[in-house]
Formats: sequence, C-alpha cells, structure tokens
Amino acid sequence: MVTVIVTTRTDAFSRGLDYLYGLRSLAPVADLIGIIDDREGRAAVCTWIGTHIDSINAQLGVYVQACDACFLPWERPSLQVFATPLASAFQVDGVCNLQTQPITLLIDVGRLIPADWGRLVVHEYAHAHAHAPGHHVAFGRSLTHLCLGLGLPLPPPSADAATLRTHPAYRCTPNPLAFWRGAVADWQTQVMVLGELPPPAP
Ligand SMILES: [Zn+2]
Repeated sequence: MVTVIVTTRTDAFSRGLDYLYGLRSLAPVADLIGIIDDREGRAAVCTWIGTHIDSINAQLGVYVQACDACFLPWERPSLQVFATPLASAFQVDGVCNLQTQPITLLIDVGRLIPADWGRLVVHEYAHAHAHAPGHHVAFGRSLTHLCLGLGLPLPPPSADAATLRTHPAYRCTPNPLAFWRGAVADWQTQVMVLGELPPPAP
C-alpha cells in the first residue's frame, strides 16, 4: 500500500498533525477530520498517531487485500485506506470517498473494537466496489459477494437500505477518542484475520 501522506518532520506530534492535515484533503468534508481544531485535545491524539498510525494502516491494508482476493484483478477498485478519528458530529464510523483517485476509505478504528475493524473495512470496500455512496442494489450485491468470500454473515436476500447500512454488524466502543489517546495499547493482539471472524455479539 502506497501512502500519499508525506511529512519530513520527525517528532511524533508534528508527524501526527501532518498526517491529519493530509487526510483533510482526502475527506469528502474537511471538518470530518475535526480533532485538528481542538487545540488542547489534539496533542495526545496527534502524538499517538505520529507513533502508531503506520502499523494501524498496515492492518487495515491487510483487510483490503482480503477484500481484493474476493474479486478478479480487473474487478478490484483502486483504493487507499487510512485510520483516523472522525468528528462525532457527523455520526459516521467510516467513509468511502469516491471523488478521490484512488478511492479513499477513512476508518475511525476508535469507534469499534479491534476484533471488528475488518467488518467496517468490508462495508466501505463494498461502496468502493459498487462505486455507490448509497445502500442500494449494487452495493448489496458487492457486499454479499464479499461476505460470501470472507465467511461473514450474509445480508438478508432482499435487505433494504436501512439493513444494509449497518451490515456486517460490529461492536462499538463507548469512548472513541480513548483509543486515539493510546488507551488500547494491545490492539494488535485483538485484531482478527478476515475469514476467521467470530459471530457478532447478540
Ligand atoms: Zn455504508
């Protein structure tokens, strides 16, 4: 996975801040990357990002590769994936920006438990594959194909948009920013291999 986020600065805080400014240019709305504007709250988050973001993005890249493997090479969308805190006002856990080339997936990994990160990547990948922002027939077809290939629960055969919007289900965290301040230091022991995911909690 090639990263387009480039910084020449070496301290963790500045690297994290440059990373988030870089993502602003890839987000459909710059304010989605809202933590930048929180002058006090951003210090801990940027410093943690500056140190750990490469390994998190590498993990998300593994999930994208698992999704790619479900399709023939020429059927695969050209995309890039980045972890980032997303402003809570937008009430989204992940975003697929079809307007960038390659397509950009932004995943707020603080909002769901590490074991379920792959599920959100699958959902956003389906938007990229269907090249559709909504949750309609083409999206449902792409998502069903991915779930079949990765051993995830299938959406109901004639699922409506409201059902597809939250598929596959994942478990949320109570305080998304806690992760971004380094509260889940052992996340690498909690992530799952796609295709070996357990059923979601009831
Ligand atoms: Zn969606």
